[in-house]
Formats: sequence, structure tokens, C-alpha cells
Amino acid sequence: MSKYVYTFGGGKADADASQKNLLGGKGANLAEMNKIGLPVPAGFTLSTEVCIHYNDNDGGYPEGLEEQVLAGLKNTEEVMGAKFGDKENPLLLSCRSGARESMPGMMDTVLNIGLNDDTVAALIKQSGNEHFAWDSYRRFIQMYGDVVLGLKPESKNDPDHFEDILDKARESTGVEHEKDLTVDQLKQIVAEFKAVIKKHAGVEFPTDPMQQLWGCIGAVFGSWMNDRAIVYRRQYGIPHTWGTATNVQAMVFGNLGNDCATGVGLTRNCSDGTPGFCGDYLINAQGEDVVAGTRTPKRVEETFEQDDPAAYAELVEIGKKLENHYKDVQDIEFTVQKGKVWMLQTRNAKRTGFAAVRIAVDLVNEGLIDPKTALQKRRIPADDLNQLLQPIFDPAAKEAAQKDNRLLAKGINAGPGAASGQIVFHASDAEAQWNEDNDKQLILVRRETSPEDLRGMKVAKGILTAFGGASSHAALVSRQMGKTCVCGCDQLNINYEAGTVTVGDTVLKEGDWISVDGFTGEVFNGQIDTSASEVMEVLLGNLNAEDAPTYARYEQLMKWADEYRTLNVRANAEADDAEAAVALGAEGVGLCRTEHMFFDHLDEIREMIFSTKPEDRAKALAKLLPFQREDFTHLFKTLGDRPVTIRLLDPPLHEFLSKHHMHDDPTLGPKLAKEFGVSEEAVLRRVEELEETNPMLGHRGCRLGIVFPEITAMQSRAIFEAACGLKKEGINCYPEVMVPLAGFKTEFENQAKVIRETAAKVFEEQGVEVEYMVGTMIEIPRAALTADEIAEDAEFFSFGTNDLTQTALGMSRDDYKGFIGYYQENDIVPADPFQTVDQTGVGKLMKIGVEGGRSTRKDLKIGICGEHGGDPKSVFFCHEIGLNYVSCSPRRIPIARLAAAQAALDS
Ligand code: ADP
Ligand code: MG
Ligand code: MG
Repeated sequence: MSKYVYTFGGGKADADASQKNLLGGKGANLAEMNKIGLPVPAGFTLSTEVCIHYNDNDGGYPEGLEEQVLAGLKNTEEVMGAKFGDKENPLLLSCRSGARESMPGMMDTVLNIGLNDDTVAALIKQSGNEHFAWDSYRRFIQMYGDVVLGLKPESKNDPDHFEDILDKARESTGVEHEKDLTVDQLKQIVAEFKAVIKKHAGVEFPTDPMQQLWGCIGAVFGSWMNDRAIVYRRQYGIPHTWGTATNVQAMVFGNLGNDCATGVGLTRNCSDGTPGFCGDYLINAQGEDVVAGTRTPKRVEETFEQDDPAAYAELVEIGKKLENHYKDVQDIEFTVQKGKVWMLQTRNAKRTGFAAVRIAVDLVNEGLIDPKTALQKRRIPADDLNQLLQPIFDPAAKEAAQKDNRLLAKGINAGPGAASGQIVFHASDAEAQWNEDNDKQLILVRRETSPEDLRGMKVAKGILTAFGGASSHAALVSRQMGKTCVCGCDQLNINYEAGTVTVGDTVLKEGDWISVDGFTGEVFNGQIDTSASEVMEVLLGNLNAEDAPTYARYEQLMKWADEYRTLNVRANAEADDAEAAVALGAEGVGLCRTEHMFFDHLDEIREMIFSTKPEDRAKALAKLLPFQREDFTHLFKTLGDRPVTIRLLDPPLHEFLSKHHMHDDPTLGPKLAKEFGVSEEAVLRRVEELEETNPMLGHRGCRLGIVFPEITAMQSRAIFEAACGLKKEGINCYPEVMVPLAGFKTEFENQAKVIRETAAKVFEEQGVEVEYMVGTMIEIPRAALTADEIAEDAEFFSFGTNDLTQTALGMSRDDYKGFIGYYQENDIVPADPFQTVDQTGVGKLMKIGVEGGRSTRKDLKIGICGEHGGDPKSVFFCHEIGLNYVSCSPRRIPIARLAAAQAALDS
């Protein structure tokens, strides 16, 4: 017969902490705590297999369960020296849920099982405490009614019969808490509670303890499938098939008098990681009282030592023992009965990113774990490093804003950090205001952003948009700039003409203060104080490392990460953010987008657009050459010996001249006509020619450079002139010229030829040569599929997973917002494919690309430069398929470094 029930008690247990899948976290750890000699009330755990059977069989139990439960109960009775249902010396039980992963508050627990009119009398005699006995009895009936008989109100509007009765009793004597009710009142309440059960559940309150116990076991197993639990599991990706275990355990009492208490605690502070036990407790209380909020709990670290010095000392000792055993900070529940401490639960504690880093580093320094263990992703989810790198709201100020009802709306948390500033609606205004006052704090509020808004975005502290998802322009650029951004906040009604943004009844004008939380997507009315990230301040040279303990720990952790990772980490950066990228640990640039500077020189670009002859185009482009060269010189210098991948012009030409531009600036048409000596009509015609129905699949990428080779030639010249210039100054640099959007080998060859010819020309002119490579982005499925051919000429690959996802899924990243949320909620896709690589689809193309490329060129250098390069799950995947590097926004570099180490240690 299968084993379904596992007992623990008296220092023995037939299971241990490794059996979480079978016994749930709570059950496995109760067993483990028993084994290491901690004081745990005896009991037994019904495995998750029973739950699965129960829910698959309409509440039926597997064969043999009953005998096993009876055996478990017998063991519990022996260890505790009391008997369940006994009229002299009754044992009371709790029945508690507990799944593989903790699902706080989602499932049910019943306490004080076994009480009836007979056993309550025995309890009174035994304890000499009538109040305690009747209070326990009324709690049991209430929980039994709520949990087992389904009387718990589901919404605020449902009646809560039990609480109503308690309210009335409290009112009639003018006391605040039920602990102050008289014994007579409690007796009366017990009678009324039984009547409630009869009236509203239509059954008599069961007096038979065994019937009570089975009722509770069934309710706990059933609670796995309640709505709350199902919604929670969907949100956290916990499979419905796991099931919960049920723990039946002897009761201990924290409500027997003033030498009793109940509480919860952490073996270290989990907000900031400070060592030392901390927690909440209540004297003379039971179970959920501490978290229920009916009485304000006291702080263990503040007053427990005075209240009960012996129990306090024991608790601290237990905390140390637990940390030593589990090698991690623990989240515990305890009860003190007549001065004796009992442990009811322990688990690895949840913590903030700050605390995660501090605790991991401290535990190494305390000799509890080694650096490899400190780096585990379960200890420090790589994404959580963000908390150390971005400015945050002062927690008290944010709480005050919430209390004042200043929360306006919630959008997508696209760029982490916190920012507070004055509203500005146009990027050009932002720039102008900032030029006047460099300290001005501005929040750029827009329906959406476009490349022209770049300079305004740069000077703003934060960006808030009404439209666009997690990979909209605003989101992408903010992440690259390390800027706080909330996007897709569709509650915002922005009126550019009136200069207002309206949310519900609130109307804010240009110049009004607004605050955005890029960690949560929250938008607040008014100002909230922010504090800069200590780590960033040190990295950017504004703060001394000696004055920065958080930085010291960050630095230590990153050193370990760099030791173990095999993937290199580069930055997607241009001249402006290259310095920050290097400070954050970039080992090169994986993607320099060259078009950004084109937006600063629209006149020259437009001149090129209006030129009909290649010579004229070349002449117009020649005006851009010095600017590009200067940019590259700066970038190469900043990166020093590190490689720099430069992508040739990628966007379609209408981004530089469109109807939209003409509409925004009515003088533009006549101006261009005059400048280029054509009619206004001809200007309009050219604009129309450039227009595209589906620009993502239009005349862009290498398709531009192929039709207009002058562009490629100018850009290559700028690159090689910059490199040669530096070489003459004795500075080495390693340009990698990257052709975008190639799908055919011939496309690549066409462009590579122009690049290499230009290089040869420049080298001859300059009298020096530099090492360089010519490679391509793999961002069209055809390129991945024919990677073996392309690698015959291409010297490196870089997966452009933004476009590769877009083209492989046939899903426009600018237009998927309307359904992706629904898709995720309904389990149609496991994650946003533009944030986390779709491994089965896009990932398969990547694998084909890697294999194909390396079948031709064994040592082909391959990286990724899409947004995914900074997403920990995708970094894991890139490690797995053997990429050489990932490239991401500068601010995500530390995250990618840690994720790369975790990937290396995992495999
Ligand atoms: P949750 O998972 O929601 O925390 P638990 O099963 O841990 O639910 O139970 C909640 C609380 O009930 C515990 O923290 C503890 O205070 C109390 N409790 C549970 N079992 C016992 C017991 N055997 N003796 C005393 N108190 C108990
Ligand atoms: Mg608990
Ligand atoms: Mg692309």
C-alpha cells in the first residue's frame, strides 16, 4: 500500500526538508525541524498525492488513508501525552494547508479541532482558565463554519454572521478586543455561533472530534481549487497539478495567559538585510491574531526581551540554529506556551533586492555559504539587482502619498526607478527648459514617443506615456538611457493643445508636479522625494566607495559573478551612454545604433533624400561624415581595448521626412521646395513616395544601403577614419561593422564589399591599418535558416531578437498591445515574447543560426543585441545555446552579468 501519511514528533520524523514536492514546504520543514531537535508540536502530514486524488475524485480519498491517519494520530497522542476527544485529557489539533511553494493566505487553516461541550469542560479543568477554553471553543466553531461549512464571506457585501455577533458583544460591553470579553459573553457567543451554523449551513455543528477532523482535512484539500488560489497560481506560474499537503498537528496555546504569546519573525531584516532577529508578536493571543490586524502587534526586537527574557533568548538561539542548518535567512512562526517556545513553521524568507545582496554577501563572510551558493538565482533573482541601481522613492514619502490618495493611475512599469518632476508635454520644450536650468526636474508626458523626442527624453527625469507596451519606443529608449518610465497608462487623457493631462477628475497642467514609479507602474499626483542609488553614485564617480557599504557588497557580489560566468556582456550604447556602460561593466558595445545622430542633422539627411543622383547624395552625406566620425572617435576612445559593434543605418527614410513632419511644421514644405529648387508639389510627391503601409517590412536595414550604397560608404568611412585617427594617437580600437536585416547571403556580400573597399581606401589614405570585422545581424528567419551560407562571408553574427521575434511570430511589436495581455492571462503564451525569448519558436531559429554559422566558421563569434539580452531567462537560454556574449542596455549589464553567472553555475 502506498504511503500517504508522514508523522513527526518527539525528535523523530519519517520525512525531511528535501520532500517539499510530496509534503509541501510547511510539512517538509516541520519534519526537518523535528529532526534537528527543535521544539515542534507533534503531528502528521497527508501528502500532496492525497490532494490530487481528492480533487480528481470528487472528494474521495485513496484506499488505506484512513488507517494511516489513525496511526498518525496515535503517534501524535503518544508524543503529546493527551488523547484526541478525551473527556479528561483532550488533545486539540490544527489542520493546515501547505503547498510546494508558499501561497500566503490563499488556502485554509483550522485551529482547536476536537473541542465540544465535553472537551471544553476538560480543558477548563486542566488549564484552570475558563476564559481561554471558551475563547478557543468559539474560535474553532467560527473557523469550522467559515472554512469547512463555507460560511466565510466571499466579498465585502456578504454578511459575516460570526463577526457580527462578536461586534455586538464588544459593543454591549464597550471593549475593543474579544480578548476582553467576559466568560459569560464567550459562552453566549458559542451558543449563538452554533445557531448560525444550523441556520446558515443547515447542519448541526458536529460534536464528534473525528468527524470534525475529517471535515477539516477535506476543506484544506478542497481549498487548493478555490478561486483565490487558482488566480494566484496563474499569476505566479504555479501548476494546478501540484496540489497541497495537509498538516495535522497538536495545538499549543499562546492564549493561556500573560506568560504566553504568538508571533512571526525573520532571522534577519528582509527589507534591507540588517542582521538580527526581528518580528511581530502578541502576548496572550492565538494564531492569526498577529497578522489579522485586530490588535497591533509588538516588535520582537523592541520589547520581547523585557516581556519574556528566557523565551526571547531561546527564540534568538533557534533563529541561529535554523540559519546554520538551512544556510539562509528564515521566516518563522512560533508560539510561546507558559514560557516554552514552540516552532510552528519555517521557510526561506522572501526579501527585497537590497536585502538579497546583503544577506548573500554576509552569509559568505560569516562562513555559512560559499560564493557559488551566494550567487544562486533563488537567493538573488538577477532582476532584483535593479533595486540597487535605480533611484527610489523615499519609502515614507511614498506611503504618505498613498495615504493621501494621490495615486492617479497605473501603467506598465517599463523603465525601473522613481522620478518626480514637473510636467512637460513636448520634447523640445523639455530641452529648452533644461537648457535654462540644468537642475530642473521634468517628467515628459506624451501619448507616445518617437525618435524625434530623444533629446527631450534625455533631459527628463522620467517618461510617462498613455500608449505603447513594454517594447514601445518610450520603453526601449528609457531602458537604454536608464530612465524611469511608465508607459501604456491608458487612464491618461492627454490634450496637447490645452496643455493638460486628465485622469478621472484630476486635471494637471504643464508645470504641475507628477511622480512616476517605474518599478510598479504607479503614477502619483504631486512631488515625492527620491533618493539616488548609492551604487550608481559610486560607479559614476560622484561618491567615494569607502562611504558606500551597499556598493561594497554589490562590488563583492559582481566579482564573484564575473569569476563564474562564461558569457561576455556588452552594452547597447552610443557615444553618450558609453561611459556609464563601461562603469557598469560592459566588455564591449554589442550594438551602436547609428541613426540616433541622424536625427540631429535632419537638414542634411533631407538633402540626401531629395537628391536624385548618387553624386548629389554623396555630397549631402559628406556633410554628415564629420559628425559621425566624431561620434565614433568618442565611442572608441571610451571603450578602449573593448570591441565595438556598429550597425549601419537601419530605419526607413520616412522616419526623417513624413507627412507627420509636414503636418507638425507647415513651413517645412515651402522651405524644402525653396532649398532644393523644386515645386511644393514635388516635395509632397517625394514624401508620398517614401510612405509605407508596413514600415517594419519595408525599405529599411541593408535594403537602404544596397539601393543607396553612398550611405554605407559614408558610414564606413566615418568608422575607419575614426579608428585610424585613434591608432595614430596610439589608441587601439576594434570596430565590428554590422549589416542590418540581411536575409540573403547576396545582400550581405553586397554591403560587405562596400565596407571592405572603403576600409582599404581609408587605410591607404591614412597610412595605417586597423583590425576590424564585418558581420551581420540575424533578425530575419531566412538569415537564421541560411546561416551556413551567410557565414561564408560574415565574420560574426548578432541576433537581433526584436525583429527576429517580430518576423518569426508575424507579430508587430508596435501593435501587439491589444491582445498580448489577454494572451498571457489566458495561458496562450507563457510570457511576453518581446521581453523573454520565445524559446520553442524564435529560440529554435537561433539554434539553427548558431549551428549553421559554426558549421561554416567553427569559431564564429555570436551574440545577441535585442532587448532580450538583458532578460535573465533569455540570458540563460543564450548561455545554453553557446553564444559568446549578450548585449543589453547599460543599466541591465549588472543583471546580465549575474544572470550569466547563474546560468554557468546551473549548467
Ligand atoms: P498560513 O499558511 O496561512 O500561515 P498556518 O497553517 O501557518 O497558515 O497557520 C496560521 C497560524 O495558525 C500559525 O501561524 C499559528 O500561529 C497558528 N497555528 C497553526 N497550527 C498551530 C498549532 N498546532 N498550535 C498553535 N497555533 C497554530
Ligand atoms: Mg503560516
Ligand atoms: Mg532590427
